[in-house]
Amino acid sequence: MEWETVIGLEIHTQLATQSKIFSGAATAYGAEPNTQACAVDLGLPGVLPVLNEEAVHKAVIFGMAIEAEIAPYSVFARKNYFYPDLPKGYQISQFELPIVGNGHLDIEVDGVSKRIGITRAHLEEDAGKSLHEDFHGLTGIDLNRAGTPLLEIVSEPDMRSAKEAVAYMRKLHELVRYLDICDGNMQEGSFRCDANVSVRPKGQKEFGTRAEIKNINSFKFVEKAINHEIERQIELIENGGKVVQETRLYDSVKDETRSMRSKEEANDYRYFPDPDLLPVFISEEFKAVVKAQLPELPQAKKHRFKDQYALDEENAAILTYSCQLADYFEAVLKASGCEARLCANWITGDLSAALNKAGLEITDSPVSDERLAGLLARISDNTISGKIAKQVFEEMWQSTATADEIIAEKGLKQITDTGAIEAIIDKIIAANPGQVEQYRSGKDKVFAFFVGQVMKEMQGKANPAEVNKMLKVKLNQ
Ligand code: ADP
Ligand code: MG
Repeated sequence: MEWETVIGLEIHTQLATQSKIFSGAATAYGAEPNTQACAVDLGLPGVLPVLNEEAVHKAVIFGMAIEAEIAPYSVFARKNYFYPDLPKGYQISQFELPIVGNGHLDIEVDGVSKRIGITRAHLEEDAGKSLHEDFHGLTGIDLNRAGTPLLEIVSEPDMRSAKEAVAYMRKLHELVRYLDICDGNMQEGSFRCDANVSVRPKGQKEFGTRAEIKNINSFKFVEKAINHEIERQIELIENGGKVVQETRLYDSVKDETRSMRSKEEANDYRYFPDPDLLPVFISEEFKAVVKAQLPELPQAKKHRFKDQYALDEENAAILTYSCQLADYFEAVLKASGCEARLCANWITGDLSAALNKAGLEITDSPVSDERLAGLLARISDNTISGKIAKQVFEEMWQSTATADEIIAEKGLKQITDTGAIEAIIDKIIAANPGQVEQYRSGKDKVFAFFVGQVMKEMQGKANPAEVNKMLKVKLNQ
């Protein structure tokens, strides 16, 4: 039988606010355990939560970016359950009335575009962490993470393969980083995914029973976990079994999913509106302010880069991956006055490679937009060749000197003096009669040999266009 897979993702993004969602404690990652948890985060009796406006602001930004409805009225609810890292005995979340509803995100798989529905995105607080490793036989509790703002983004069951699920997750990851609402750090848990997976015979209308795989924190593991789960379900059904609705855990070491708890054992969370918090009202004025501050969205920027600068799809996509990279590109373009393609190729090529190697973001680039513009201008006006430019770039990476300073200091200026080039060409031709013979008898490939010899003799500084032109003339004499 042919099977079809159905996937819906729930993604928790940690909102990049300075302080927690209901308290003034810091959200910075990596502090000593329990140094960033105040009375509210600890759930001490008598404390009152106060909503962090910035978390609301970021949720609204997200809602607008996915063209969703922003609820004029949303409500925080208590989700009741017991766990040692949840001292209040409930998590403050949103249930019936989330802040964002009914949006979408377009993904691309194998060149085909597809729209994925986003059912809702709601605000909630994160729980603390249980530490099992350091306490031999005991468990430590670190409540630094308790109260960190999360936006849980729930998709429609619109994906039909692990590949589509990963494409959606990547696209969402790009978007929240681009909007600057989440740092996207997956190792630190700022962006984590629960995958709901079911299978059904191809052509059947009703969905099959789903299993939910919890807390997967890398793109690679999402793909593996889903594919593994699909196989497990199909095998189970084909052997006469039935998929039960349950929560499963992915073990990346064994590359398998295993049951954590079934739906029957699942908690009844007894949701009810939190009496300590007021409903959130979003006015038309607030929405107008946020809309005005919204950056040009990646998709729109990509199209503009292709139209306005005649960039190819790949360069346009890379350059619009982050707002900062796109800004850097436009700054270089403006300051250098060079062709867009030259700027794009340098930024997505040499500069990106150097940043990757050093583990740096574009905002920390040792070569500023202004300095790179200075280098590209010298390629454009033929002062140096593209090859020498790579050498100058390396020097710039190590120092604070401008391209002009390095070119002057190292004597890298391109030789366009035709007399000097001619003298070298004559010398090379005289020294290689065999190759000249070959060329003249029709072996065009030998031409590259001559270009190489002349360039070598002139330490790469000869103007390549000039060398080509003169060599042609001389060899054809
Ligand atoms: P719950 O409240 O149990 O988390 P939801 O109805 O909110 O359940 O759905 C959670 C996620 O599961 C959503 O992303 C949704 O698209 C997805 N989902 C629902 N039904 C299925 C199904 N049969 N197969 C795959 N995914 C599903
Ligand atoms: Mg769920």
